[in-house]
Amino acid sequence: MNKFVDVLIVGSGVSGLYCALNLRKDLNILVVSKSKVSCTNTYLAQGGISVARDKNDVDLFTEDTLRAGQYKNDLEAVKVLVSESMYNIKRLMSIGVEFDRDDQGELDFTKEGAHSINRIVHTKDNTGESTAKALISKAKQSENITIYEDTYLIDIIEDKEMCIGAILIKENEQINIYAKSVVFASGGIGGLFNNSTNQRILKGDGIGIAVKHNIDLKDINYIQIHPTAFYEEEKNERRFLISESLRGEGGKLTNINGERFINELLPRDVVSEAVYKEIKETEVSYVNLDIRFLGKDYIINRFSSIYNECLKRGTDITKEYIKVSPAQHFFMGGIKVDLNSKTSMENLYAVGETSCTGIHGANRLASNSLLEGLVFSRRAANMINDSIDKINNPVVAVNNLNKSLKELTDENKKLAIKTIRHCKINN
Ligand SMILES: Cc1cc2nc3c(=O)[nH]c(=O)nc-3n(C[C@H](O)[C@H](O)[C@H](O)COP(=O)(O)OP(=O)(O)OC[C@H]3O[C@@H](n4cnc5c(N)ncnc54)[C@H](O)[C@@H]3O)c2cc1C
Repeated sequence: MNKFVDVLIVGSGVSGLYCALNLRKDLNILVVSKSKVSCTNTYLAQGGISVARDKNDVDLFTEDTLRAGQYKNDLEAVKVLVSESMYNIKRLMSIGVEFDRDDQGELDFTKEGAHSINRIVHTKDNTGESTAKALISKAKQSENITIYEDTYLIDIIEDKEMCIGAILIKENEQINIYAKSVVFASGGIGGLFNNSTNQRILKGDGIGIAVKHNIDLKDINYIQIHPTAFYEEEKNERRFLISESLRGEGGKLTNINGERFINELLPRDVVSEAVYKEIKETEVSYVNLDIRFLGKDYIINRFSSIYNECLKRGTDITKEYIKVSPAQHFFMGGIKVDLNSKTSMENLYAVGETSCTGIHGANRLASNSLLEGLVFSRRAANMINDSIDKINNPVVAVNNLNKSLKELTDENKKLAIKTIRHCKINN
């Protein structure tokens, strides 16, 4: 089957849906998601979203991001991220995200590792869930946005080095989508690792397709290992994350001999390395995180999701240490994009974790990922809004292509269908 849309967006996380919501209302947009619309890393985010609190914070936030990234960041991209942060947080609030407030009714900013000041907005410890729910609800109310769940991107359609669409599998059928612009918002690579905090379905599909089509990648050696995932014997399941905000609020790490071995608020790569060292030296596969001093009532209110998830796993964090060890968490590298999220292929954009804007450098500063998804997917949307009327309707190219674009081989179709079943089982 062939179908025509103005914009195809692959991915229903923060970057895919926020991009869709910032596109013009007269554009016909299709968002596809490999599994259910909420099966995303976005939904799992706990800590929050960084934001420059005011003009005085711009330089400090920039410096914190660069220091955490070991100064391998793209400075121009970091400046864009920081300067557009508050605008996008306000826009997210207008879409329906209700961030926590302090006693005076002002935004309640919390702190995480390597941030010099409190600058993270959050909804308790489930910021991702509330953000995802607000974006999904808004997208579902938008008449110009259609969402296909359980729909699997297997390739793009390329004509004269231009992206003119993509090949999808939905309900065991091949659909060729032709689009004036295609946006990859297909997330990270954690599903490729046994030991990762990510949704198991996220296996870097967009990046694989980019390699196949010679689209430029950047910083693919920069993979973040989070120091504190809940420790469990290997189960071949996603590791449950113990958010950095617990350390931001004073949580202490000790080895099994009760000795503190690191300043808990150093950047993630430094803390992970220190934890690995302790694990090696003590020959015990975890270290302990202690937040009991915060008090039962505070813990249950502020960290309710983490409290409940740990309880399900047999640990009462108001009374016991939390056993933690490192796990793959985030991909700083990805499909190389410019400041408007354009890839090296005409008409193809990449946003969110699958892209590499260069803002993270060698190591992401906590809570900068959702922000990157917001800032740069809005920029992609703005670019598409301004340029799409000048793009030829892909129907012309399709007439030429029809001769060469064949049905998938039975073998490829079987593989795609198997992958979709796998996603359904893992959702
Ligand atoms: C446990 C956890 C906690 C986190 N906490 C925070 C935090 O507090 N603050 C922060 O800033 N960041 C946090 N992060 C990182 C952040 O959540 C992610 O980097 C961000 O949400 C990625 O958003 P995204 O839109 O790029 O991708 P995702 O939200 O992961 O969405 C990816 C989408 O791509 C789709 N997709 C993938 N492949 C295909 C395909 N072949 N065909 C069709 N669809 C496809 C998926 O179905 C999905 O809809 C956390 C991450 C994890 C795992």
